[in-house]
Amino acid sequence: MSAETQAKVLNKDIPGYESTSGDHDHTSDVGSLNNIDAEKLKLLHDEHNHLRSRFSQLISIPACGEDIEAAGKLDYVHWKLRQAEEPPKRNKDGLGFEFPEHSYLGDSLKLAWDDGKSYIAKNKPITLPNGLKLTYGEINALAGDFYGTVNPISNGKDLKDQQGRFRSAWHWLAEDTTRNPNEAEKILNILSVEAKRVQEAVDKGQDPSEVYPTLKDTNAALQLATITRPAECPSYLVLASINWDHFGIDARTAYNACHSVALETAANGDLQTGYAMNAFGDHFLQDSFAAGHMRTPRRILHNSTNAADLCAKFMHDEDNAIGLDVESPAGKSWRAYGDKRLLDKVDADNKNEAWNAVRTSADEIYQAYKTKKVTEYPNYGAWEYAPTLESAQQNQLIAPLFRPDGQRRADIRKRCEYKYTNSYWYLTTALDCEASGLWTYPIEPTDDCKI
Ligand SMILES: [Zn+2]
Repeated sequence: MSAETQAKVLNKDIPGYESTSGDHDHTSDVGSLNNIDAEKLKLLHDEHNHLRSRFSQLISIPACGEDIEAAGKLDYVHWKLRQAEEPPKRNKDGLGFEFPEHSYLGDSLKLAWDDGKSYIAKNKPITLPNGLKLTYGEINALAGDFYGTVNPISNGKDLKDQQGRFRSAWHWLAEDTTRNPNEAEKILNILSVEAKRVQEAVDKGQDPSEVYPTLKDTNAALQLATITRPAECPSYLVLASINWDHFGIDARTAYNACHSVALETAANGDLQTGYAMNAFGDHFLQDSFAAGHMRTPRRILHNSTNAADLCAKFMHDEDNAIGLDVESPAGKSWRAYGDKRLLDKVDADNKNEAWNAVRTSADEIYQAYKTKKVTEYPNYGAWEYAPTLESAQQNQLIAPLFRPDGQRRADIRKRCEYKYTNSYWYLTTALDCEASGLWTYPIEPTDDCKI
């Protein structure tokens, strides 16, 4: 079933949805408007430029096509580096979980090894084919967000195609010797400040989400470290603009493809590479625990101007901050939050279930190595612990900003009003969200909500 068909099936029986209008070509955005006079159009473009420059400093999704192009030029990067020296105006936004959250999950695993002993993953770096030495948690954090190709795994037409796409992404992290091991070490070095500060907060019993606003924006430095990559393996910011492998049903497809290759590798006798490949796939499993990744229709919220991608970002931030009530096939129910909050006390249930999923994922690799048999695709144990997409879709905590069928909440300022419209443009929606002030942290339920 395609992601869109699945989304429609999921959406069919959701209670409380009320549509406010008929079909409208909201995807055409301002470029094709013919009923707006020139002056208004210019105003919109000016606002767009202003918004774009504000956003490009702050978020990983480049704000428009020109931004992606500009990201390839050194002047732009130097400008961003200067911006990064200024204190952040709001929380630094990343995608999925932040680096320390991914690495925390993987590095706290106890992994059984081929010498018959078990080791805490943080203390047992794995040597990759190109000589790069990384812990399981470091691979969790570098995969997808920093290493991928122009061909998202979930775009593969069948499992074989998806596995091939995973192997290409894996190549750039683990096999390529033209950029690595230097590049990955540089990226880890940039991110180490953040990781250290978060760890200190956890050690002191503080919520890491309070630490993030005080951290410098590292996006420019990360872009600079990845800017000279060849076309097949795009830079950090460009990868973020095509990152639907990290969302919803596509994250499941991506994990299943990676996990199947990792299982085969372990069953063929190479446990270390099996673990390392699995750590790559676990990134997408971990992202499946971030509230903003559960029901945001990321794949359809993408267009050439990136105005749709910005809309995805607004929905992502809203769900992450306010949370979603979810349940797993294993029968647990809890409220999940998102980026920067996984290690907060309020998100302890979510962290525990995410950890159970990652542990089960790694255990299956060891079992494949021991028994030389692989768990049958796609019945992988990790998904028993993950929030079901149905529970995220049926969630009544706040009304989703976008539905799987592309309709938008009619009033973006009423977070709990289940009225929907097809009559909107991506650009004006993004401008309106920004102008409302409701997406400035802390993002909270609006007055119409009874939370
Ligand atoms: Zn991610």
